[in-house]
Amino acid sequence: MNISIVGTGYVGLITGTTFAKLGNSVTLVDVVKEKVDAVNSGRSPIYEKGLAALLKDLVEAGKLSATTDMEEAVRSSEITFVAVGTPSREDGSIDLSHIYSAVEVVSNTMRNKKSYHLVVIKSTVIPGTTGSLIPLMEKHSGKRAGKDFGVAMNPEFLREGVALEDSMNPDRIVLGVNDSKSERILRELYSPLKAPLLFVSPTTAEMIKYTANAFLATKISFSNEIANICDRFGVDVDEVMRGIGLDHRISPYFLQAGAGFGGSCFPKDVKALISASVGSGYTPHLLKEVIELNDRQPLRMIELAERYSGSIDGKKVAVLGLSFKPETDDIRESRAIPLVRELIERGASVTAYDPQATENFRRIFPGILYTTSAEEALIGADICMIQADWSEFGEIDYDKYGLELVVDGRRTQRGESETPYVGIGRSVKMKEGD
Ligand code: NAD
Repeated sequence: MNISIVGTGYVGLITGTTFAKLGNSVTLVDVVKEKVDAVNSGRSPIYEKGLAALLKDLVEAGKLSATTDMEEAVRSSEITFVAVGTPSREDGSIDLSHIYSAVEVVSNTMRNKKSYHLVVIKSTVIPGTTGSLIPLMEKHSGKRAGKDFGVAMNPEFLREGVALEDSMNPDRIVLGVNDSKSERILRELYSPLKAPLLFVSPTTAEMIKYTANAFLATKISFSNEIANICDRFGVDVDEVMRGIGLDHRISPYFLQAGAGFGGSCFPKDVKALISASVGSGYTPHLLKEVIELNDRQPLRMIELAERYSGSIDGKKVAVLGLSFKPETDDIRESRAIPLVRELIERGASVTAYDPQATENFRRIFPGILYTTSAEEALIGADICMIQADWSEFGEIDYDKYGLELVVDGRRTQRGESETPYVGIGRSVKMKEGD
């Protein structure tokens, strides 16, 4: 099939690469010319394991290309996926402006198309959004939805860091459709993936995406709540979570306690769901606390440091891991942001290292020192704080650097070294007198 994908970000790139790998011809669209140029010269605009090599092969094979010309991309395809950003507004509610502007151009282009065109919303949008786009699309295209063109909703569940693997081997594919022709096209497109296809209404598909993220975020905040209680009782939260995770009703996933969740999805999506829910007349108190606890959690690292080492004012702190999680250069809502902000606020001098995310982080904090290795960051530091569990941090011999303390926000190591070590939710051995 000929497919156009509007939005060449994390989701657009991974979706496009996957469809091209399955044998389709894919055109990616973006308003940012640098991204388009990067793709056309066989380079990935983002870091994601395995993406660079696959993208280069597919571009060279003529299966994948990119353009800023959305109209041409829509004209020469049968399906358009909309994968533009849906960021949070200041008040947490969803900003749908990118969706509206993309859908308007797609619909205007459909006006002069003779054949049936399917438009699939892939971005995460609050329940009811896809349905509410139909009158706008009919107006701009002069055509009838369900007859001349199809509208579907297909939420994305990839995890950054293992996005290609997730996209090629999804647990399930959720498809919100209104008409049988759209269903048939999507069934054919996705059939090579051998994953269960769940056909529901577009509004249900939208709600499934939010519910999945709200549930996973709740599991993490729940684990962090228990970790903070474990600290009080001298109990190791990892052992507790292993103990409950073996119960098949609970499962071992998303029970890692630590500095909290970040990324482009969980915080934004839970806030958008809260906002939409409040707007509809129901206040979801549980979800509000999931976010509030998550906002407090990175500051627990500083609290632990001060409990053990006293004031951090004037201390040299090496922060390892700036991305919101390992294996990505994405720093959106990374817990390193409030952590570094608070460290600076309290008078610490910060040296930071990340294997991939330094350049992105530098845009937010241009004034701190960045190093090109963990070792360089640790030389001369008083305290080390681990914010993202890149595997290389587990290999560090912390005893080499004369640190007074390691604060592990992700439990990358077990505190077997001589260097004093505290981890969130790990029984803390206090200095004498504490
Ligand atoms: P992103 O910010 O990385 O990419 C969005 C892209 O859309 C950008 O390159 C931007 O320039 C482009 N864009 C914006 N308006 C445009 C327009 N009018 N025409 C063409 N291009 C336009 O975002 P992302 O992380 O890929 O997320 C996209 C959507 O998918 C969001 O709704 C997000 O919540 C959802 N999602 C993201 C993930 C993830 O892990 N990143 C996972 C599942 C779902």
